[in-house]
Amino acid sequence: MIELSVGSEQFSKAYFLRLEKVMAQMESVGCDSLILSLGADMPWLIGYQAMPLERLTALVVRRNEQPVLVIPVLEEPRVERHGDLFRVRPWHEWEDPYEIVASAIAGSSQVGISDRTWSVSLLKLQSKSTAAFFPASRITMSLRSVKDSVEQAMLAEAARRTDVVAQAIIDGEVRFVGRTEREIAMEISERLLAEGIEKVNFAIVGAGPHSASPHHEPGKRVVGQAEAVVCDFGGEFRLDGSAGYCSDITRTVVTGEMPGRFAELYSILKTAQERQVAAVRAGVSCETIDDVGRSYIEEFGYDQYFIHRTGHGIGIEEHEEPYIVAGNTAQVEVGNAFSVEPGIYIPNLYGARIEDIVIATAEGCELLNRVDRELHVVD
Ligand code: ZN
Ligand code: ZN
Ligand code: ZN
Repeated sequence: MIELSVGSEQFSKAYFLRLEKVMAQMESVGCDSLILSLGADMPWLIGYQAMPLERLTALVVRRNEQPVLVIPVLEEPRVERHGDLFRVRPWHEWEDPYEIVASAIAGSSQVGISDRTWSVSLLKLQSKSTAAFFPASRITMSLRSVKDSVEQAMLAEAARRTDVVAQAIIDGEVRFVGRTEREIAMEISERLLAEGIEKVNFAIVGAGPHSASPHHEPGKRVVGQAEAVVCDFGGEFRLDGSAGYCSDITRTVVTGEMPGRFAELYSILKTAQERQVAAVRAGVSCETIDDVGRSYIEEFGYDQYFIHRTGHGIGIEEHEEPYIVAGNTAQVEVGNAFSVEPGIYIPNLYGARIEDIVIATAEGCELLNRVDRELHVVD
């Protein structure tokens, strides 16, 4: 069990270590400057998340120099400093922040810029610089996909709090029959917030035929008797001085004895998911984990109904590397955190998915979600 014993001192230490790694990576790919703006790169590196507004916030990182955070004056009070990790250059409304960033990267020929930076920001920077720009993920993503102990503790805490809600669902504390999917999704969201999840990212509730639509938007359909209901939800857990870390879990429940071969379908899915979790360890390829579940499901002829990849990495972003999908030959590394979420969906009839987050270790994995995976009957 990963315990939550992190505070601002641990965050600060982690940020310095991450910055060291980023600078080493910049050196090895020949990157002169890095501009981090919107997205997860900046909060991962310094704990501060830019507001997604038209006023530019950008962290400029140059090799062997103290990074500088270019930020609107009015947002400067939001910034938590971590020793001399970075300095701040607040800009006034009458200044041009793009000029400030352009002069901070002066002399650079290769500049990495956050993938999530707005194109309008990139275009303005390009008009003021002769540098070649490329996605910062080339430097940050492989580093971000390996979670350090602080991040592992944050993800574990996010999962623990989210598990409380999943447990309430399978224990029958949430009423399904006679309520709309949207009402149930609202209740799930409220319960997540009550558990200290700061922001709910999504709450999918797909009942009856909607359970066969993996990314169903909960609607006005009223849940009836003897239906499968896929509940997939997650949010962000945050501490002061840190970015939010995401949770993501799926449990499928039924409202009474199911018609047809649903029970068989579910037990195949459950075994497939167990086998996939058991296959996780450092050194195994991402596509192997996908194949372990897919080929098992194929033995029963259901493979055509497993219509999505097995999983996605998770961290400050809900979906990030590594992706557990056919064709991804990359090897799992110690500290990779990702979902294992096979699903079987019979169009217009019913479907099921089981999802847990794991963190890879040398011998196997740490399972962050502990809620029972047996098929539970709820009202
Ligand atoms: Zn999804
Ligand atoms: Zn999910
Ligand atoms: Zn997921």
